[in-house]
Amino acid sequence: MLQTSRAFKENATSAMANAGLQRALARARPQYAKKRQAAVDRLPEFEALREEAKNIKNHAIANLDFYLETYAANVEKAGGTVHWCATAEDARKAVLEIARRAGAKTVTKGKSMVTEEIGLNDYLEANGVTPVETDLAEYVLQLRHEPPSHIIGPAFHLNREDWEETFRKSHTNLPADRVFRDTRDIQAEARLQLRNKFFAADMGITGANFLIAETGSSVIVTNEGNGDLTQTLPRVHVVVTSIEKVVPTVEDTLSLLRVLARSSTGQDMSVYTTFSTGARRPGDPDGPEEYHVVLVDNGRSGMVGTEFQDMLRCIRCAACMNHCPVYFAVGGHAYGSTYPGPMGSVLTPMLAGVDEAGHLPNASTFCGKCESVCPVKIPLPGLMRHWREREFERHLTPATMRYGLGLWAWFARRPGLYRSATRMAALGLGLLGRKQGNLPRLPFMGGWTKGRDFPAPEGDTFFARYAAAQRQRNIGGRP
Ligand code: SF4
Repeated sequence: MLQTSRAFKENATSAMANAGLQRALARARPQYAKKRQAAVDRLPEFEALREEAKNIKNHAIANLDFYLETYAANVEKAGGTVHWCATAEDARKAVLEIARRAGAKTVTKGKSMVTEEIGLNDYLEANGVTPVETDLAEYVLQLRHEPPSHIIGPAFHLNREDWEETFRKSHTNLPADRVFRDTRDIQAEARLQLRNKFFAADMGITGANFLIAETGSSVIVTNEGNGDLTQTLPRVHVVVTSIEKVVPTVEDTLSLLRVLARSSTGQDMSVYTTFSTGARRPGDPDGPEEYHVVLVDNGRSGMVGTEFQDMLRCIRCAACMNHCPVYFAVGGHAYGSTYPGPMGSVLTPMLAGVDEAGHLPNASTFCGKCESVCPVKIPLPGLMRHWREREFERHLTPATMRYGLGLWAWFARRPGLYRSATRMAALGLGLLGRKQGNLPRLPFMGGWTKGRDFPAPEGDTFFARYAAAQRQRNIGGRP
């Protein structure tokens, strides 16, 4: 599978033919939606909370400069250091610089999509620093040299036997007669391997779900506790995160936490919610000696004031992909991007450019489910439509589609002609496909008919039937 958004169509084709992937997706698909719905049903004020969450994020983004400066000032007051990074490269360099100054050779990492976005692991490794992923799924992916395929379930695409095979190949000290019956055996093996790595690490890197301006704290949620060990055991703790994570107050954070876990895993709260404020103070029983925050922009400030500003509300819960029919048909790797699914189809063109990622906003049925489950009410289909418009304006869509749409628009502006033409086309196609009931090939539609037949139209067009129904209604005297 190619890790580039440009290869979406090829990737999607091979993903749909991949039996193992399809098995993993079919297993996961019903779980998340069911759990989310049960969590929502348990909380009558959930809809009101969604509105509140949306307003909190809108307010923070409308005043982003103010809250970021307040946050940075409070981090410094608590003894930490903020590194402002305009680009992914700035961020990679900042982390390496911190590691070099600390003399760090091994770095433990909690799950962080921003570090995936900036390609941190490869960079650190190329510069003599060994990163060790400590989230269970990220750990197995690191052993397999694969990127995550989902933002909260990075190994969504794997089956149990894939985990076992990976451990048998990579853990050279694993006894041959070791049995992996279920998830607990997998967790026990990973714990055994990771325990010493936690103690040996010189530096720990985590992401952040939220940054609190009024206290200068970063907040992460995990279900494994690896985030806590990553940030409290090593001498240096580095938070690598992006600018839109800032919110004004602790109270705002608590409101957002109430919708986050319910939307993502269907839990009322994640198992661990950790607030970190600065380095260890005199008298603290544990904690790092140094605390750094690497704040990444990487194109986000360019979204402020544009039609894509709403996307900055995203709290990375993954509900949109957990309910997306396209995601569950092709899996996360097909998108060729750090961020798959509907949220990635909006965000990736912003980060990588629409020339690079133009396929992604087209990878949607526009069923609208993503918007209806988003805890911060991001109008994802509308934003994808904006990308499609930009793609069209820049002539990046195929010529057949552009001319086809142009022709359709010409007819649509002439209703009488449009009705006659569609009626004639329906009649013609109906005649052509009358024997089989479908058409295996159509001119200019080879891409569509390559994977399925076109159903031959039956009877009259929608317009004709609608007009007939209206006439019938008028005769019957109904309004
Ligand atoms: S777009 Fe909404 S549903 Fe999707 S990850 Fe972000 S917050 Fe969650």
